[in-house]
Amino acid sequence: MLDWYHDPLPTNCCADFVCPAGTDSPPGWREYAYTQGPEKGYRNLAVFYRSCSMGCLYCQNWHYRLPASESKVSAHELAAAVDGRTSCVCFFGGDPSTQAVHALRSIRIMLEQSQGRVLRVCFETNGRWDPVLLRKAADLSLRSGGCIKFDLKAWSPEVHYALTGFGPELTRKNFEDLIPSYRARPEPPFLIACTLLVPGYVDEQEVGSIARWLAALDPSIPYSLLAFHPQFMMDDLPMTSRRQAKACLDAATDAGLQRVRVGNLHLLQD
Ligand code: SF4
Ligand code: SF4
Repeated sequence: MLDWYHDPLPTNCCADFVCPAGTDSPPGWREYAYTQGPEKGYRNLAVFYRSCSMGCLYCQNWHYRLPASESKVSAHELAAAVDGRTSCVCFFGGDPSTQAVHALRSIRIMLEQSQGRVLRVCFETNGRWDPVLLRKAADLSLRSGGCIKFDLKAWSPEVHYALTGFGPELTRKNFEDLIPSYRARPEPPFLIACTLLVPGYVDEQEVGSIARWLAALDPSIPYSLLAFHPQFMMDDLPMTSRRQAKACLDAATDAGLQRVRVGNLHLLQD
């Protein structure tokens, strides 16, 4: 159950500040990129799964819940959407963990038919995966030059549970298990952490705690802080303020992280 579409690169991806589609690639770039700078003229295949393993009250993609008349796509049909200008595929949603078997089958077909050319495979996820399936997804992503973007919702179990309906433990354990893979291919970075700055909930204390945990794992892990837009059950909240974004950015850099940025700058309010 999914929708797919092509997105011209560079695109609004939470990892665009470190990935080959949006940045100047480091030495050896031909292995995983078509151009040394941002990949203009190429495109991303976005795979939007219509199911999720969390129930976030502020869900930014809540329309995955809406019924769709035509959304069943086989692995072969999805793989056929990779064309000569597709340089990366991003599995998101909803969450790819819920349809991981379909994703793995699709990726194997895509990589098989793309031998000899660049096709990076990436995931954007809340991290609540079955560990065995995550390991398989990570191996394919790592080999392709892609990355896994982990949405780290909050540090305190209470805040995490209140916002999502689940605790943070499984997500953190899965993230930690992938650190050896991150070290195996530091460039382009295989793991990226992201946090949505929900006003009144995810403040500098929450972000500082996440950042200290990340820095202890490896201070070079990229961390993307994202401005919040009121959605779904929390559509009565304000947007993220510049003050909150600056305080969270400072907390993350003070924790020792070397690559932190605030994304969705156009959403910040005074
Ligand atoms: S899907 Fe991957 S390669 Fe493509 S823009 Fe996003 S992080 Fe970069
Ligand atoms: S993990 Fe993402 S898609 Fe799933 S409910 Fe939360 S915000 Fe929505």
